[in-house]
This record gives sequence, C-alpha cells and structure tokens, in this order.
Amino acid sequence: MNSSEFVESFGTDCFGIETMRSYVSKSVYKSLLATMNNGQPIDESVADEVANAMKQWAMEKGATHFTHWFQPMTGSTAEKHDSFFAPDFKGGLIAEFSGKTLVQGEPDASSFPNGGIRQTCEARGYTAWDPTSPAFLKKTDKSCTLCIPTAFLSYTGEALDKKTPLLRSMRAISDQAKRVLKHFGVEVDGMVQTTLGAEQEYFLVDKKLYLERPDLIQTGRTLFGNTPARHQQLDDHYFGSIKSRIADFMAELDQELWRVGVPALTRHNEVAPGQFEIAPTFQYLNISVDQNMITMDTLKRLADKHGLVCLLHEKPFAGINGSGKHNNWSLSANGKNLLDPGATPHDNAQFLTLLCAIIKAVDTYPELMRASVASAGNDHRLGANEAPPAIISIFLGETLMKVIDQIAAGDTLSSTDGGKMCLGVDLLPKLSLDNTDRNRTSPFAFTGNRFEFRAVGSEQNCAGPNIILNSIVAEALSDIADAMDKFTGDFNTELTALLKSVVKDHMKVCYNGDGYNEDAWINGESKKRGLPELKSTKEALEALKEDKAISVLSKFGVYSPTELEARYEILTEQYMTKLIIESDLTVDMARTMILPAAVEQQSQLIANILSMKEAGIEAGLATQKKVAEEIGTQIDALTAGCDALDAAVEAEDTVAMKAGMEQVRAAGDALEQLVDTDLWPMPKYGDLLYKY
Ligand code: ADP
Ligand code: MG
Repeated sequence: MNSSEFVESFGTDCFGIETMRSYVSKSVYKSLLATMNNGQPIDESVADEVANAMKQWAMEKGATHFTHWFQPMTGSTAEKHDSFFAPDFKGGLIAEFSGKTLVQGEPDASSFPNGGIRQTCEARGYTAWDPTSPAFLKKTDKSCTLCIPTAFLSYTGEALDKKTPLLRSMRAISDQAKRVLKHFGVEVDGMVQTTLGAEQEYFLVDKKLYLERPDLIQTGRTLFGNTPARHQQLDDHYFGSIKSRIADFMAELDQELWRVGVPALTRHNEVAPGQFEIAPTFQYLNISVDQNMITMDTLKRLADKHGLVCLLHEKPFAGINGSGKHNNWSLSANGKNLLDPGATPHDNAQFLTLLCAIIKAVDTYPELMRASVASAGNDHRLGANEAPPAIISIFLGETLMKVIDQIAAGDTLSSTDGGKMCLGVDLLPKLSLDNTDRNRTSPFAFTGNRFEFRAVGSEQNCAGPNIILNSIVAEALSDIADAMDKFTGDFNTELTALLKSVVKDHMKVCYNGDGYNEDAWINGESKKRGLPELKSTKEALEALKEDKAISVLSKFGVYSPTELEARYEILTEQYMTKLIIESDLTVDMARTMILPAAVEQQSQLIANILSMKEAGIEAGLATQKKVAEEIGTQIDALTAGCDALDAAVEAEDTVAMKAGMEQVRAAGDALEQLVDTDLWPMPKYGDLLYKY
C-alpha cells in the first residue's frame, strides 16, 4: 500500500459522521450529530432511516451479517452475528434491518457474568445501540460483518457491561465541570468531553513455539522459565530497528486499524525483547475505549495470520518487563483542552481549579483508583520496579509543584514575581513540556496538558479506570462548584482561598520523587503521609465495598449500589478463578512435563555413574553424583510444592496459591538448569523471546 492509498483508506470501513452524511437526510444527520457531540438521546423516529443507511452502506461493502458488539464484564468484547437476509416466502431472500433491530437487540445472555444481578430463570439482557460510537466492518478472508457498538443491560435496566457506566461517568463529569466553568464565564456547547489516548504494549511470540507452552495457551503467561543470559540489560530493543517480519505485521496492523477509523499513530519496539507498543491519537473517551478494544482484537487476529501470537498479559515472562497501558486522560470543552494551563492569568486560574479538583479526587479515593486497575495479571507488575508502585500518587513536575506549594502557603509566601500570589491575576510560570514527563515511576503523572494513568494493565478494558477517574473527579468538581456558588466577594481572592484549603487538605498525594524507591518512598514517605499501599487484587477490591465508594459512584448515577456489588462479586470471582487455573496448570505441568524430564535425566546420570564405577573411572564421578543428587533434591521440592499448591486450591486461599506457585516454579526453574536442553519438555525463554 503506498502512502496515498494509506491516507485514502482511513475510515473506509467505519460508518463515521462524514459517511453518514452522504447516506441520510439533512434532518437525520443533524439529529445524529447532536447525539454524537452532546450526548442528546437519539430521536426514535430517525432510527429507521439510520438503520436503512447503515444496511445499504454495509452491504455495498460486502457485509452479509450484522452484530450488536458489546463489552460484557468478561473483560473482552462479545458479538452474535445475525444475517441481514430473511426468506421472502417466494423462494427468495430479502434484506431486512429495521430501526428497532438497530436500536435494541436481545442476545441470549445468560452465560455472561452478572454478579447476581439476574437470576438464571430470568436471564434476559438486552443490547442498546450507542450512537456516539461509529459502527464498523469486521472483515476476515471470508466474512464481513457490520459491528454496531452497543450497551448491554438487564431487563430491569441495570448495567451488565462496561460501556453503560462509562457513558454515565462521562455525563457526570461533564455536568459538574460545566458548573465550575460557568464561574469562569465559559458556556459549553454540548458536553465537556473526556478524552483518552491509550498507549498499548504487547508481546509477540512465534506461534509454533507458543503451541508447545500449555501455560501460554491457557493462562497467557509463562508459569515456568528462567530469564535468558541476555534479556533487556543492553537496552538495545527499545526503539531499536524493527525486524522485517514484525514490520510487516505492524504495517498490516496499521492498515487494518486505519480502515476502521482507528488513528494508529506510532509503533515501536519496547523495552523487553519481543515487546512492542502501538499508540493512537486521542479521541473522545467512549470512542477511544471502543477503539482500544478493536485494537486488542486486531492485534490477536493479525498476529495469527503472520504465524505469531500476540500476548496481552501484563506479565508474560518473569524477570522481564511486563506490559501496561498508558491511559492519557484529559477534558475538553468547545474544542479546547481544559488541562492546558493556557497563557492568561484567567486561563491559568481555571486550569488550576480543575487541577485542584483532580488532586482532591485522587487523594480522597486512592483505593478506588488502585481497585480500578486490579487484576491477577497486573498484580505481577504493579510495584515490581518496572511499573508504578501499588501506591497511588500524583506527579506534577517541579514547576507545577512549586505553584501548588505557593497556593498552600497562600498569603504568607510570595509569588513568582515576588508579590502575593493571587489566582486570576498572576501568570503561571511556563511549563516546559519536556520537563513534565521525566518521571516514569509515578502511577498518575501530569504530562503538560493531560494526566497519564500508568498503572492500567495491558489486557484491561480502559473503561474501568476511566469510570472511576471520571466519577471521583466529578465529585470533587461538584464540591468545588458548591463552594464557588457561595462566593459573594472578590472572585479571585475567594478562589485563591478556596484552592488553598483544597491544596492543604490534599497535596499529600503529590509526589515528584522516585516511586520505585523502597526506603525513601514505598516504606518511608508514603507511609508517613498515610497513603495506602494495596499490593494484591484481593486487598484492592475491598475498596469497592466501602461506603465512600458506594456513595461517590451512586451520587451521579454511575453505578447503583447493586451494580457496584455485582462488579465486586465478578472481579473477586474472576481473580479467584484465574489463580485456580494457574495453580492447577502449574501442578499439571510440574507433574506431567517437568518431573518426567528430571527423572529421565537423573536415571541417565545414575546409569552412567554405575558404569563409571564398573569401569573404575574416578574423574567426574563426584560431580555427576552431585548433579544427580541435586536433581533429586529439586524433585522433592517440586513435589512438595505441588502438594502445598493442591491444598491451597482446595482451601481457595489465594495468598497460599501465589506462594505455592512460586515454590513449584523455583524448583522447576532450578531443574531447567540441570536437565539436558534436548530433554526439556518446552521451549525456553531464550526461544520465546528471540526466535521470531
Ligand atoms: P509517551 O509515549 O511519551 O507517553 P506518546 O506521544 O507516545 O507519549 O503518547 C501520548 C498519548 O497521549 C497519545 O495517544 C496521544 O494521542 C495522547 N494525548 C495527547 N493529548 C491528549 C489529550 N489532550 N487527551 C488525551 N490524550 C492525549
Ligand atoms: Mg506514555
């Protein structure tokens, strides 16, 4: 594909605004535009016309089927294809797709997790079209399906998915941000939009090797394996030249994504061998979340086509960097980025007010932010000196931190030009964008005109963390708006006083230092400040049960208490289930693959030792005896670990399961180094990471 073909291909398989314009009448177009930009409810009378237009467009492109594409609480997407065609009872077929079918579907949904919201006997759910996210075509060599982004709800209206609460949270933050902006004289046309740019990390391994690793197949990560002599020490993979096989894969990936309207922007090698990243240009949150789901799906599908497998797991390989998703988040109104500090004292004051709301939100709900990124996979990453610690804090950069310090000190300290600091009057010192992003150890970093939530897992649906972020910031904005509503005197003076009190209460969550430092931060300063460190998913998820979580999430209708309870149930169960699968497979691989290889190696050694004795050869005898004994010792450790792990699974004790897996792995990995490579029953790290 040459560059002009590439440019022309953008969005050709996406029913975006421009395409829509040429397929529907002016009035329907206007009504849809209002829905897409302002979140106005869709006017039912337009549905038939839109459905017809979509069908016509999709069929011209070769689609035979359509599907309501949704995001149940499994973590992935779901689709059930229906044909456009029905018998006409005259021996032929007619193409049918009504407004009613577009707007609402009814998948047989009893097998999706619902956390107790629905009884199986009344297990109906329905999908509802989300007109704010464009429909797109999913193509394989032999199929073409129109995918319609939808929300998924129970018949009683409870959200059974991730999209519904996401849309609600976007509404919540918009409503509250507007209240604050009003005080700055800003009238917002439509919604205050949340924007998201999700940087996606992933690994690629050769499919043939992958198929020889039951752990990769069943759990997405390796349960055994030693770090190879050479891994990422030389730092030569990061941004290194891309191998041609991978470059071909990436090129096709970009083409596929462009085709469905995903603005894939950058691609490069990541830190670890076999690790890569793709980043799109940011979009409105809802669209960006859908597009990230499409990206993950496309990564997997295309890798397969290239004889590769894409691993999205947060920690596929022990001892080597894992994968995350940098969640770049901001707010925009009237086409302007609200987290851009601006160039006038007035803009600065507005920016600082929003910034203070975010600081207050994060400091009030660090546990919820931590819970929003909790998963069995991400537990291996957070706090492992490669990803942000399990302690939530904010990095502001030096310049902004000084400003915050000054706001806190308020009337006593001088401002940058030596006078008294007054918001809306003094000009912020210029933030150099280069300086804002130096600290990679912070979970939530201000990067000049947006926040980057770096603790998000690579396999996660971004909806979860953004629902929390939007909801807690909505509450902080609401509190600040309440206070601003009561201003009676000089606006700038009162605002300065208000922000001073917010900053004083909440600046403890701001930390510019090294988030990996055990002594200074993790076991030192963060503890002094009383910031929680929630190391495991099990601990983190408990935050969802607290009254303050129920209150902040139900206040603006993002989650009802029942919906939140359901999420807690589902997430804790998923965590338990994943650990049980990993534990069972660890035991299985240890007993049926590693143990036989170790026994075989040992018996070969013993046979040799016996013949050496018979032949009267002394040299090397002692060493071989030592190796045979060491194998025996590790076999004992492996077996004991398996027994302990079985007991931990039986007791459903997640802490013991994690410890048991480590114990078995330690023995297994020791054996890997004692057994002949030809006898070893699975490809080693060196093969998986380098042979592609
Ligand atoms: P880095 O790798 O240094 O973190 P990149 O430039 O690769 O940064 O990625 C930055 C991501 O942030 C991109 O997806 C970009 O579109 C996104 N981004 C930039 N501005 C905004 C914004 N205002 N809101 C949301 N995301 C943004
Ligand atoms: Mg980044």
